[in-house]
Formats: sequence, C-alpha cells, structure tokens
Amino acid sequence: MDVSRVKVMSNVAPVASRKGTTALQCEIFRRMDEDLPVEELTEKAARDLGRLLGFKQTDIHAISSIPVSHSYVISDHNREAASNTIISWLEENDIYPVGLFGKWKFIWSDAAYISVAMTALKFW
Ligand SMILES: Cc1cc2nc3c(=O)[nH]c(=O)nc-3n(C[C@H](O)[C@H](O)[C@H](O)COP(=O)(O)OP(=O)(O)OC[C@H]3O[C@@H](n4cnc5c(N)ncnc54)[C@H](O)[C@@H]3O)c2cc1C
Repeated sequence: MDVSRVKVMSNVAPVASRKGTTALQCEIFRRMDEDLPVEELTEKAARDLGRLLGFKQTDIHAISSIPVSHSYVISDHNREAASNTIISWLEENDIYPVGLFGKWKFIWSDAAYISVAMTALKFW
C-alpha cells in the first residue's frame, strides 16, 4: 500500500461530492530521486483502498491526481543548525521568515499561522 494518509473530503465539505457519494483524498509520498508514475500509483491506490474499505472499482465516479513537486521541507541531521544560521542572519538584516518554508521546519497549518502572528506582534 503506497497511500500514507486518507482524508474524507465529503465530511469536511459536503458540497465537494455528489449526494450519497464519498470523496476521498489520498496522499502518496515520494522522494525527489524516486520514480513518480502518477497514473500507476493512482490506479493502485484505488485498488488498495477498495480492498481496504470494501468498494468496487466500478463504484468510483471520478478520480484524479495532483503531483506536488515540493511538499515537505527536507529534514536531515544538518537541518536545524543550518536553518538556525540562515534565519538568524535574515533576522539580523530585518527579514523575518515565517511559515513552513520560512522556518524550514515541518509544521502544521496552525503552527504556520502562529509563526506569522508572533512575528506580526513583534511590530505591534
Ligand atoms: C501533503 C501535506 C499534507 C499536510 N497535511 C496537513 C494537515 O492535515 N493538517 C495541517 O494542519 N497541516 C498539514 N500540512 C501542513 C500545512 O500544509 C502547512 O503547515 C501550511 O500549508 C504552511 O502554510 P504556509 O503559509 O507557511 O505555506 P504554504 O501553504 O506552502 O504557502 C506558501 C505559498 O507561497 C507561494 N509561493 C512560494 N514561492 C513564491 C514566490 N516566489 N512568489 C509568490 N508566491 C510564492 C506558494 O505557491 C504557496 O501558495 C500538510 C502539508 C503537506 C505538504
């Protein structure tokens, strides 16, 4: 199974799917140096989820994929020291990076929002 995460979009936004149907959003992750056979992965995800959740492929009304080339920041053993050095230098020069890529650290949307709010408060 390649799917790492499944979200039931029709629970989040009922208007996102036809009445009586369910909209699923699946996430499949690949490193930049790995193959990304989008069509193949999408078809396999549909088969795997069908097996897991008990639906037939003929039950599927629509399916599509959106490849996102850069999603998460790259975490390795140098990340923290390197990003601290860069962020300190930027701040010393009155540039205040915020959010996921600004902080170069994996954070969720609430933490991204807070990082912006905390930065704005410094100048309040
Ligand atoms: C696959 C995935 C699943 C996730 N799931 C969750 C989840 O379930 N719950 C959760 O809370 N968080 C989740 N996150 C994390 C969440 O998406 C991020 O924390 C949040 O989006 C960060 O917000 P941001 O505004 O910092 O950055 P982003 O949302 O990345 O926004 C940055 C914006 O800047 C734009 N941009 C970049 N460069 C330029 C440029 N040069 N000029 C103009 N515009 C530019 C980009 O196009 C983008 O629109 C997930 C992230 C990923 C990748």
